[in-house]
Amino acid sequence: MKILIVEDEPKTADYLRKGLTEQGCAVDVAHDGIDGQHMALQHDYDVIVLDAMLPGQDGFAVLRALRAVRQTPVIMLTARDRIEDRVKGLHEGADDYLVKPFSFLELLARLQALNRRGRAQESLHVRIGDLHLDLISRKAYRGQTRLDLTAKEFALLAVLARRQGEILTKTAIAEMVWDMNFDSNTNVVEVAIKRLRAKMDAPFSPRLLHTIRGMGYVLELREDEGAP
Ligand code: CA
Repeated sequence: MKILIVEDEPKTADYLRKGLTEQGCAVDVAHDGIDGQHMALQHDYDVIVLDAMLPGQDGFAVLRALRAVRQTPVIMLTARDRIEDRVKGLHEGADDYLVKPFSFLELLARLQALNRRGRAQESLHVRIGDLHLDLISRKAYRGQTRLDLTAKEFALLAVLARRQGEILTKTAIAEMVWDMNFDSNTNVVEVAIKRLRAKMDAPFSPRLLHTIRGMGYVLELREDEGAP
C-alpha cells in the first residue's frame, strides 16, 4: 500500500511513517499543505492521510484541489474539539476521518478498509486526468462538472477510456459502439466523435481526445499539453 501522510506535527508524522513502514507500506510525508497538494496530485497513492490544520493551506483546500482531478481515498485527521471539521471534511470529499489522538491500530484498520474499497471500485471507474467515468451509473465528469452525454456518446467515451493511450481505428470503434462492421459507415464515428469532443473536451483543459491522422483516435493525457 502506497500512502501519503500530510501532517505538520513532526512527532505524529514520524510516528505514523515508522509504524506504517513497519507494516510494509511505502510512505511519503509532506509537512505542509502546499507540499501535500503537490505530492497528492503528482503521485498515485492508494490512500492519503490528511491533517485538517496545516500551514501553507489547510487540509480542506488540499482536498478540494485533489478532488478536482483525482479520487484517491482520503482519511482526514481532525481535532477533538472541532466537530465542524469532520462534517466539512466529509462534505469536501473525504472518505473517512479520525479524531486526534487516535490509536495507530485504528488508523491502520481504516487505511486497509479504504484501500480494499478503492481496489474493488477500480474497475467500475475509469480516470484520465480530470476525466472520470462511473461505468455503473454511466455518468461522466471533467473535474466536478457532470458531462451531459447521450447513451451512445457515453458508450463511445467508455470504449476510448477503457483503452486509454491506444489508437482505435474508426472501424474498430464502429464495431464496438454500433456493432457495425463495414468501413462505409465510419462517417457515423466521425460525427459522433465531433459531438463528443464538443461536450467533453473542447470546453476543458487539457485536451484528452486526439485525432491521429489516417489512423483513428486516442484518448490520453499528454504531459506536454498542460497536465495538472
Ligand atoms: Ca496540524
